[in-house]
Parts: sequence; C-alpha cells; structure tokens
Amino acid sequence: MTSPRPVALFDMKAQQALIRAELDRRLAAVLDSGAFINGPEVRELEAELARFAGCAHAVGVSSGTDALQIAMMAEGIGRGDAVFLPAFTYTATAEVPLVLGATPVFVDVDPVTFNLDLADLERRIALVLKDGKLTPRAVVGVDLFGLPADWPAIEAICARHGMFALDDAAQAFGAALHGKRLGRWGHATALSFYPTKTLGCYGDGGALLTDDADRAELYRQLRTHGEGKSRYEVLRTGMNGRLDTMQAAVLLAKLPLLEGELAARTKVAAAYADGLRGLVQVPTSIPGAEHAWGLYSILLPEGADRARVQEAMKAEGVPSGIYYPKPLHHQPAYAAAHAGSILAGPPPLPVSEMLCHRILSLPMHPYLTAEEVARVVAAVRRAV
Ligand SMILES: *Cc1c(COP(=O)(O)O)cnc(C)c1O
Repeated sequence: MTSPRPVALFDMKAQQALIRAELDRRLAAVLDSGAFINGPEVRELEAELARFAGCAHAVGVSSGTDALQIAMMAEGIGRGDAVFLPAFTYTATAEVPLVLGATPVFVDVDPVTFNLDLADLERRIALVLKDGKLTPRAVVGVDLFGLPADWPAIEAICARHGMFALDDAAQAFGAALHGKRLGRWGHATALSFYPTKTLGCYGDGGALLTDDADRAELYRQLRTHGEGKSRYEVLRTGMNGRLDTMQAAVLLAKLPLLEGELAARTKVAAAYADGLRGLVQVPTSIPGAEHAWGLYSILLPEGADRARVQEAMKAEGVPSGIYYPKPLHHQPAYAAAHAGSILAGPPPLPVSEMLCHRILSLPMHPYLTAEEVARVVAAVRRAV
C-alpha cells in the first residue's frame, strides 16, 4: 500500500488556484502602472479592510510587528512605561515595547481560552503601581489562535487606569465578539498579513484598524517617516512602515474569499472537536465570540510525550506545530528585561509554562477535505 499524500499544516496553493486569474490581472496592473509604493491599490485595500471589519479607518503597514510598533509610537510609549501582555504569545508582541525602551510586563493566561488572565493582569498592574518605578501605559490583548480576548473587560481595566488598549489580532482577522468584528475593540487593532494568517499576502504586510480619526492620521504619518502633508516636512520621528502596492494587490484578490474561508475553518474545527473531545482538551469559544480559527491547538494530557506523539502523527503523513515551545519570560532576550526590578522574581506564570509543554497545533486551513480531517483525527487518536 502506498502511503497517502501528507496533509498540509497550512495550504496556500489550493486558494491560489481559485483566484490565479484575478491575482495575475491585479499584479499585472501594478507592473504596468509602476506605482510600487503608495499605489491606488493600497487605498482601495484600506477601504475594503475597514468595510470588512466595520471600523472607520484602516492603515496598511509593512507587517504585524510594525503595526504594533507604530501604534505604540503614536501613544509616545517609551522609557519608564509598563506594557502588559501575555507571556504565552508570539515574540513580536513583547519585542516592540523593548525596542521602544518600554518594559514588557508578562501576564499569565487562562488555561482554557489561552488569552489574558484578567485577575493576573489586575495583580500585576497593582504590583507596578506599588513599586512606583514604571507607569502602567498599555495592555496588549492577543486573540491567540483566533479566539477574541475578553475585550469588554480589558477595555474596562484600561479605562480605569488610563491605559491604551491595543488588540494584537495578528492571528484573528475575521473573528468577532458580541456582533462586532475585531478592529473595533480597544483603541486600535494590529493585523498581520504574514502568508499563513487568516488573511495573508505573498510576503510581509499588516494593517492598523481604528475608529479614531486622530490616531489613524498619526499612523499614516508614522508609517512614512513622520511626514506631514507635504513630502519633506517631517513632523515627528517615524519609520519606513508602508504596505507595498504588490502586497495590497494580492490582498485585494484574496479578501473576497475570506468570509467563506472563515466558515470552512469553523467546519474543520467542529469536526476536529467531534473527533477528539474527551481524548485531549479541544479549543472552545467564549460566549458571544466567533472564532477565526487561525490555528487549531489541542492540549495533550498531562505527562504525554509530545515529541513521540508528533513522530507517530508524522509517520501517518500528519504534520503538527508547537505554538509556542517557550513562554516569553524564559526567552534569553527577555529574561533580562526585568533584572533588578520587583518583576524579576515571582509571581510566577504557571499556566503559560504548562501550556508550552502540552500545546500541539493540528493542520488548519480552509481547504482541508473531510477525508483529510478524518485522517488527522485518526492519527491523533492512535498517537495519544
Ligand atoms: C504573526 C504575529 C505577529 C507578527 O506579525 P508579522 O506580520 O509577522 O510581523 C504579532 N503577533 C502575533 C500574535 C502574531 O501571531
């Protein structure tokens, strides 16, 4: 018996085949116009993104990381400021405050949603206030794996302390909470268009979404070296953070598929849950939330040998991923961030540490067939 073709962890080929003619047409238009920077496709995409999210403004930028950086630069976040963020997330969320001279304060996450644990957030804000060395300035809520964080609660905590609420929705574009898509929660929302995200381009790209006209204007200035209305008037220190026209053209061709792709991801997630519930901890949603299913991550039983599980699955042509193998406070680059501060010692981050040992992500993309989903389920059942 020949073994069947491996399942893809992510799949960009099936999607490309569906829209290849439109991609070719849109890319050819950019080649013909030569407007590689700030071409009309960038503005067209910004209008479409704002419409999709239901927000007032969208500003295309060069990556999700730069979206986070521009949003924090616009608030003047820097030395002496504390930025609260989950210890269990992608490294970019923590890197940006450090690049700006601010201090990331790692917060533990909830063992079921994997998003910010709000009681721990309150504890750490109180700790920073008591210490008196840093000013609580911002909370970055991550919608991990596509599940919205508890935004009404995060907004309330930020309002109480006069903090900036930034949504890192890099894994979650398309998700919604209480009938509002991400893009309208917090003061601003950062998106990434890295190829494997729910809406991805063919390179790096990102966007900032906000309902606040003043912030949107600032974001436009900062992404173009702090330029004012005229080309060579520099109003503030900015950066080169533009989304290029080619990537905007790619995203314009892909965006019409997104609604259907989100529905397809939801179906895959439901089939995984049906097949795996009881064997492993399957992801759940929260009341009022529509999950974007950027990733599908299960929690293996305590003590399971994850490397062996992955090997056994791989032997059946089923790849898997580990997002993330290390909590951020254990990363060498960040361990020093709190040296000499009261944040250096306890309180510990036990949930983030536990998740890093047990988390496992299964293939997740909108073009998985029912047969492939069944193969993944069977492989996990045999491996665990
Ligand atoms: C992907 C990702 C980013 C960074 O996006 P890039 O476009 O790769 O810079 C930031 N935060 C989270 C949670 C991400 O998953």
